[in-house]
Amino acid sequence: MALIVQKYGGSSVADPVRIRNVARRVAEGAASHQLVVVVSAMGKTTDSLMSLAHQITPAPDPRELDMLLATGEQVTIALLAMALQDGGLKARSFTGSQAAIRTDCGHTKARITQITAERVRQALDAGEVAVVAGFQGLSEADEITTLGRGGSDLTAVALAAALKADVCEIYTDVDGVYTADPNIVPDARKLGRVVYDEMLEMASLGAKVLQARSVEFAKKYGVTVHVRSSFKPDPGTLVTKEEQGMEEVVVTGVTHDRSQAKISILRVPDRPGIAAQVFGAIAAKNVVVDMIVQNISRDGYTDMSFTMPRGDHARAVSTLEEIARSIGALGVVHDERVAKVSIVGVGMRSHSGVAAKMFEAFAKEGINIQMISTSEIAVSCVIEDKYAELAVRTLHDVFEVGKGVNR
Ligand code: ADP
Ligand code: ASP
Ligand code: MG
Repeated sequence: MALIVQKYGGSSVADPVRIRNVARRVAEGAASHQLVVVVSAMGKTTDSLMSLAHQITPAPDPRELDMLLATGEQVTIALLAMALQDGGLKARSFTGSQAAIRTDCGHTKARITQITAERVRQALDAGEVAVVAGFQGLSEADEITTLGRGGSDLTAVALAAALKADVCEIYTDVDGVYTADPNIVPDARKLGRVVYDEMLEMASLGAKVLQARSVEFAKKYGVTVHVRSSFKPDPGTLVTKEEQGMEEVVVTGVTHDRSQAKISILRVPDRPGIAAQVFGAIAAKNVVVDMIVQNISRDGYTDMSFTMPRGDHARAVSTLEEIARSIGALGVVHDERVAKVSIVGVGMRSHSGVAAKMFEAFAKEGINIQMISTSEIAVSCVIEDKYAELAVRTLHDVFEVGKGVNR
């Protein structure tokens, strides 16, 4: 009998009808396998809770925010356990803390440190379906923590690793990982397989179908992840390790991230220690910087630009305005709304001219590139937000991603 961890995302459990649908899917699986089922909060519950907190205060205390956000998943586990029991199955729900998912103390983006899952194992031994709340854990200080947005994926993968499950199935509102967001690119193609490194880049660069940290975890512990539809029975996409002889297309996927902001600090004195001072100050405010560009120096001055999640933008601007004054820079300009569009593919390792082809495609469409970054298997450009969808479709066309060899 195989042990399977299944995870159902927010849209799959958005209302009672959908929860009953999930219960039916779980019952089918439970007929021949041991099942652990991880669930997200219903629909847009996490967004609503976040908005509630911000109606109380612009800067909620992170401990209290986690206390609030963790309630979302607790509602779903209870309802799903009831639905399963109603269908005649033995089922029991567990919060992250009851499942012994231990984390560090980094409220709102805690990292998992250990999972013993004793009560989950006991439930399985007793022939029950264990229903576990995603996205939450218990810190070393015995506080409720959350694992960052999309964190239920991480709960599922980490439980699969801890329990040595045969597979971790991620059920969502699309039937797999596509060459681009299928809601934006109509001719995007479902990938039969995608390797960890590609999936990690795609997730980090905006393909929110899997949380990036969950992919990192899956790669580290060799968990096979199967992304599939909670509404259709068809097989989805397998996320696995790279194998010799796999067909290599140059570009596997095109991703976009419209949740970014950009700040430039102008006419910064160009001397040792300045970058450390600027980035030290924003790191102290817990702002995670993504891309950084520094221009070549003219007359002893330079400009620096960088991007960050939009949510951190206001905090970063106020900190930088202070720093700009103290180091004698000219000032700070910012754009709260930029988009990052990227191409990803392990095939890029052995091909040249890929970036040039991307820039040419943007030039033809009159899209100005503001920043560029590259890794071994990805090229990303920051552009004006209004061009994001056009840019994704253009790249999907130019690189013929929709026609690649399905693997
Ligand atoms: P869940 O609530 O199940 O966790 P998410 O909304 O987090 O689901 O992720 C699924 C969404 O990811 C899809 O609806 C789709 O719009 C988006 N998405 C973005 N890029 C991709 C991609 N390359 N392949 C599939 N889905 C993608
Ligand atoms: N409910 C959380 C979120 O919306 C976790 C998740 O759905 O994965 O981010
Ligand atoms: Mg998700």
